[in-house]
Amino acid sequence: MYDLIIIGAGPAGMTAGVYAARREMKTLVIGMEVGGQMVWASEIENYPGFSSISSFDLIENMRKQTIDSGAEIKVDEVKKIERLDNGHFMIYTSRDSFEAQAVVIAMGLSPRRLAVPGEVELNGKGVSYCANCDGPFFKNKTVAVIGGGNSALDAAELMSKIASQVYLIHRGANFRAFETLIDEVKARPNIEILFNSEVKEIFGDNKVELIKVGNNQDNSLREIKTDGVFVEVGRIASTDLVADLVDRNEQNQIIISEKGETKTPGLYAAGDVTTCETKQITVAVGQATIATLSAYQYLQLKGNTHFAKKNY
Ligand code: NAP
Repeated sequence: MYDLIIIGAGPAGMTAGVYAARREMKTLVIGMEVGGQMVWASEIENYPGFSSISSFDLIENMRKQTIDSGAEIKVDEVKKIERLDNGHFMIYTSRDSFEAQAVVIAMGLSPRRLAVPGEVELNGKGVSYCANCDGPFFKNKTVAVIGGGNSALDAAELMSKIASQVYLIHRGANFRAFETLIDEVKARPNIEILFNSEVKEIFGDNKVELIKVGNNQDNSLREIKTDGVFVEVGRIASTDLVADLVDRNEQNQIIISEKGETKTPGLYAAGDVTTCETKQITVAVGQATIATLSAYQYLQLKGNTHFAKKNY
C-alpha cells in the first residue's frame, strides 16, 4: 500500500512525487506520459533557474529528481478511482490496481478533439495534436493547422518552416493570439489563412489525404488535399473518473481549497486540471507543493508517524 499516489506525471505530478518522497511517504506517480504537457513544448524560457531549457531536458531533470528522491513512476493510464470505506483509495490502471491512503490528482489537460468524421480513424496517420512532436514527419509536405489561438498560430509558424504549404483554418473571423505572432504568420508566404472555416471531414485510406472545409458565412465547401492535420483547438480537463469525488466547474476543472483539498478527505488536486486560470508550469509546481504538504499533514493527523521530520 502507498501513502500517496499521484495521478499525472507532468510538472505538478513530479513535484508532488519529490515532496512526498522527501517526507518519506511511500509514493507512486502514475502518468500516461512522463512530462505531461511539457512534451508538447520545445524551449521553455520562463522556468526559474534556466533562462532557456529544452522541454526534453527539463522533463528528464524532473524525472531523475523524482526517482532519486525515492518515488516510483509508472507509465500507465488510470481507468478508475474508488474511495474505500476505510477512507483509502483504490486506483485501477489498464494493467494493475494500487491502494493509497491519499491521492493527488495532477492529470493536466488533454487536447480538445475536433469531433469530425475521420479524426479518430486517422489519428497518428496524419492527424496530430502536437506540431512540435510530429512536425518533422511533414518535411516538404502540405499540412493543415486547425484553430485560432496561440497554439494554432505557433504550430502554423513552426510548420511553415518544415512543410512546403500550410493551411491555417479558423472557425472565427479573428485570431485570439499575440499580435506579434499573428503578424509573423500573416507574413509567411507559404501559409494560407482560411477564416470562418470549419473542417467537416478528414478523408484518407489509412493516411490523411484530403479535408473538407465548410465556410460558415456563405456555406461553400472546399476540398483541400493535405498530408497532415494538426488539431490545435485548445485543451480540456478529462476528470470524469473523479466526477463523484470532487466538485468541478463548467469546464470540468477541479475546484480546490487554498490547501489543494477537494471535497473528499485525502483527495487533493494540483496544476492545470484545477480551476486556476493561470496554466503555467511554475503555478503547477507551486500548487503541487501545497497539495502534497497538505496530504502529508492529513496523514499525520490520521496517526501516521513513520514519516520523516525533514525540512520542507
Ligand atoms: P485557446 O486559446 O483556447 O484557443 C483555441 C482556439 O481553437 C480558438 O481559436 C477557438 O476558436 C478554436 N476552437 C475551439 N474549439 C474548436 C472546435 N471544436 N473547432 C474549431 N476550432 C475550435 O487554446 P490554445 O491556443 O491551445 O491556447 C491555450 C492557452 O495557452 C492560451 O492561454 C494561450 O495563450 C496559451 N498559449 C501560449 C503560448 C505562448 O505563450 N507562446 C503558446 C500556446 C498557447 P474561437 O476563437 O472561435 O473560440
